[in-house]
Amino acid sequence: MPARLLEGRPVAEAIWRQVEPRAAQFAERAGRPPCLGLVGGADEAAAAYGRQIERQFTRHGLSVTARSASAIDMLWAIGQSNLDDAIDGIVVLTPLPEGVDAEQAVLAIEPTKDVDGQHPVNLGKLAQRRRAFAPATALGGLRLLQHYDIPLQGARAVVVGRSPVVGLPLALLLIDADATVSVCHSRTADLARITREADILCVAVGRPHLIGSEYVTPGSVVLDFGTNPGPDGALLGDVDTEVVTRVAAAITPVPGGTGPTTVAVLAEQTVRAAEERLGRS
Ligand code: NAP
Repeated sequence: MPARLLEGRPVAEAIWRQVEPRAAQFAERAGRPPCLGLVGGADEAAAAYGRQIERQFTRHGLSVTARSASAIDMLWAIGQSNLDDAIDGIVVLTPLPEGVDAEQAVLAIEPTKDVDGQHPVNLGKLAQRRRAFAPATALGGLRLLQHYDIPLQGARAVVVGRSPVVGLPLALLLIDADATVSVCHSRTADLARITREADILCVAVGRPHLIGSEYVTPGSVVLDFGTNPGPDGALLGDVDTEVVTRVAAAITPVPGGTGPTTVAVLAEQTVRAAEERLGRS
C-alpha cells in the first residue's frame, strides 16, 4: 500500500484558523492589524515571495509594509523597521542584493521582531529550549507532524541537513518535543545506515532525489523540505517520492507538503510578536 500523503494545505488552513481571531483581537486593542515589515525584494524571486506573503497576510487580517532596499541601504532599511512602532515583525527577503553580507543583515534585525527566527539570539534560545522565534520552514515541519498526530515523544528522528534555517532548528524543535534526534550532513559516514534508524526522517539537503527507498525503514514518516528545480520547470524534492512511497507509512509530497505551511507559520509568529509588543507597552 502506498504511503499516506501528508498534505501541507490542511495544516496551513488549521494555523490560519488560529491566527485570524488573534489578529482581529489584536487589531481591536491596538487600533491596527499585526504588521510584518518586508525588507528587500530587488531580486525577482524575492519580490515574488514578498507578494505571496502579502496576499496571504492581507486575506487573513494581517498587514504588510514593504520597504525595498538595495545593497547600499539594506542595513539602514532594517534599522528603520526595527525603530518603526507600527511594525511587529521583520523578514529580510532572500536572495539578498549582491554585495550585502547575509550575516550582517541577519544581525541587524531586532530579535524581538525576528519572526522568521534568523537571528543567532533566537537560534540560541531555541537550543536552550527557551521561548524563541523559530525559522518558519522548520516550525512548519513540526506543525505538520503535530497536525497529523505523528507521535514525537520518544520517537527516533533523523534530520538530514544542518543549515541554520531548516535542518538545525528543526532538530532543536524535535528535541524540545521529546524526540531522540540524530543530525546528518555531507560528511556523515554511511548515511543510509543512520536514516534507516528513523521513525521520522526529515530531509533538508537541496539534492534532488538523494533519498531512495534504501534510506528508509518500513513504516516510517518522511518529511521532504527539498525544493529543487527539475526539468520542464518541475519541482523535485530531496526524496524520491515514487520509490519511497512504497516503503514509508507517510510522506510529504513535493510540491504541496512542507511548503504551504511556511507563510502561515510566519503569520502565527507575527501575531505572537505583536501580542508580546502590546503586552510590553
Ligand atoms: P543548505 O544551507 O545548502 O544546507 C544543506 C544541508 O544539507 C547542509 O547541512 C549539507 O551538509 C547537507 N548536505 C548536502 N549534501 C548532502 C549529502 N549528500 N548528504 C547529506 N547531507 C548533505 O540548504 P537549506 O537552506 O537548508 O535548504 C535545504 C533544502 O530545503 C533546499 O532544497 C531548499 O530549497 C529547501 N528549503 C529551504 C528553505 C530555506 O528557508 N532555506 C525553505 C524551504 C525549503 P554540510 O553542512 O556538511 O554542508
